[in-house]
Amino acid sequence: METGLDRGVRDPELDQPGRRPRVETLAPFQLLVVNPFLVLVAWLVAFLLARHGVHLKRLPWFLAGLALGLGAPLLLQCHCLDCGGTFWLPKRARHSCRRVSARVHANQSRPALFPSLILQLVFWTASTLLIIGAVLLRGLAR
Ligand SMILES: [Zn+2]
Repeated sequence: METGLDRGVRDPELDQPGRRPRVETLAPFQLLVVNPFLVLVAWLVAFLLARHGVHLKRLPWFLAGLALGLGAPLLLQCHCLDCGGTFWLPKRARHSCRRVSARVHANQSRPALFPSLILQLVFWTASTLLIIGAVLLRGLAR
């Protein structure tokens, strides 16, 4: 059974035994975009739960918010721009759809200006921290 993660992996023209090139990692051949939406929503809900717990002096609400906030990074997802697949970030290393396989066989890495996952994560983290900082400063100014 074919799953969404390996969609397009089996290609008789490209997957002939003995012709598969060996690569250390597929990362240079993948066009992946990080999607932190679920993480940001989880952090917002966690903040509201913890804040509500503090105001009502309810420890379980506060602990639920804390646990959700700490576990939220596990919700980080990736989108493949080649096949449109969405998958959990740690599973990206095994993602090889038809176009990724073609790039591997042609030994042609992704466009040089396409940002790496690390750079995208740094951008999203910095943007999120700036927004959170602005909201907190606005709250303190009241
Ligand atoms: Zn793909």
